Amino acid sequence: MSKREYGIWINGGSELPAGCTVFERMSPSTGECVARVHLAGTAEVERAIALAKETFKDGAWKGAPASERGKILLHWADLITKELDPLSRIEADEAGKTIAAARGEIEWSVELLRYAASLAWSIPGRVVNHEGAEKLGLVTYEPLPVIGMILPWNFPSVTLFQKLPYALVAGCSVVIKPSELTAGTAIEYARLAKEAGIPDGVLAVLPGVGEVVGEAMCLHPAIDMISFTGSTAVGRKIASLAGQSLKKVALELGGKGANIVFADANLDAAVGGALAAFTINQGEECCAGGRLLVEEAIASDFVAMLAEKAKALKLGTPDDVDADLGPMIHEHHHRKVLGYIQKAKDEGATLVVGGGAPREVALESGYFIEPTIFTGVDPSMTIFKEEIFGPVLGVTTFRSVSQAIELANLTHYGLANGVWTSNIDTAMAVSSALESGFVYVNSYLETVPQLPFGGRKSSGLGRENGPEGLLEFMQAKSTFVRMRPSV
Ligand code: NAD
Repeated sequence: MSKREYGIWINGGSELPAGCTVFERMSPSTGECVARVHLAGTAEVERAIALAKETFKDGAWKGAPASERGKILLHWADLITKELDPLSRIEADEAGKTIAAARGEIEWSVELLRYAASLAWSIPGRVVNHEGAEKLGLVTYEPLPVIGMILPWNFPSVTLFQKLPYALVAGCSVVIKPSELTAGTAIEYARLAKEAGIPDGVLAVLPGVGEVVGEAMCLHPAIDMISFTGSTAVGRKIASLAGQSLKKVALELGGKGANIVFADANLDAAVGGALAAFTINQGEECCAGGRLLVEEAIASDFVAMLAEKAKALKLGTPDDVDADLGPMIHEHHHRKVLGYIQKAKDEGATLVVGGGAPREVALESGYFIEPTIFTGVDPSMTIFKEEIFGPVLGVTTFRSVSQAIELANLTHYGLANGVWTSNIDTAMAVSSALESGFVYVNSYLETVPQLPFGGRKSSGLGRENGPEGLLEFMQAKSTFVRMRPSV
């Protein structure tokens, strides 16, 4: 496999920062080096922010009609689509996911980009009429000048496109710090953004270490907002650093979703949904339904059906077209997930299927973990409480609607939950009682770009996608006009 070489993207071009550290990204499937990433330091943060500020001031982007920005973003979407194959390869190699999963992720990112671009034709605003024709109020929305975006490794493309095109439609300049583990696609998207017509200086991509590049961005007084996706622990740190210069923060953080299955649900559909909920993206999914709450009367049949399907899933490298799941992102995370499995056993949960790394010789060089299901999980157990971020499911039973709601809300997270029932009253009552930003009904992990996404409680602040996603990057200005000033 040929190694890719990445520098930083700044002022409309790629550069290798002088004297920088080079990070070698090893494939989590095979252990081979797939990319050499030249990491940014604080000098590159300073330069990128100064350029972003200057470009914002000169108005080449924010001063253009919004419809022009929209057209450029639509062109960018076409250019990305033309390179879908090579981009999917990069995403699969660096993040360890299957080619099909990487392709699906990028197709969805393009959908988000096209939707965000369409908002350019409906930038919000209001007129307030007061006391007839004498007094007029205008509410206009203006872009926050410079946005810092800090991204995780699990969905390098989607987490970027839930933010970036909305900020660009608004007219902001943006400095992006992708995870150094998965920086490749962000650099390629920036190259295509230039080809589409986004002016130099509007967009910079600085792969780097969180404690260096990320912290410098959070502390920099010329950044107006940090939009972060990642863990709750780092989100807290970012909020406190950004608080020193009182910059706005939007935080998309971790989750511990509950998938609630009532006895009257379409059980075949619910089994499929429950399986996807903890195995999609090998469980490295913030909305994962890692807790299955199932009505006691159907629990043993339901778990048997689910276990059968989980056993049939295939682990494999990006080159294995039959594979359903890839490896964990790196060795440390692999050990962490195995530790959670051991803890579930030690705390008394019953292992039904999976339970560790697979034994196949072909998978020995990757950080693979079998889809794993535990029953007999109670709320005191670690597997019920903590985000595992791997293909591990804990099953808990309930007897009533109120008990199901209580169990689902028994977490400090509040990102996404699911409910499966054929009774619309139950579905709506449960949805309204769930303390999460998103609820799936008779579905899991499905959405459309028009729906805002984001967490409650320790899962975060702010919303992405939908018209709300655009407004996050704008600030309201009120103008009061006296129409006929009295002398
Ligand atoms: P992470 O919090 O470790 O890292 C995220 C980013 O923050 C990386 O770019 C990292 O380099 C940077 N960072 C680390 N320390 C920093 C610091 N001190 N200052 C500034 N930046 C710093 O998260 P991860 O391991 O990359 O991703 C997994 C987590 O992301 C999970 O908890 C998952 O639930 C969450 N996630 C949430 C969403 C969502 O939309 N809510 C989506 C995807 C992932």
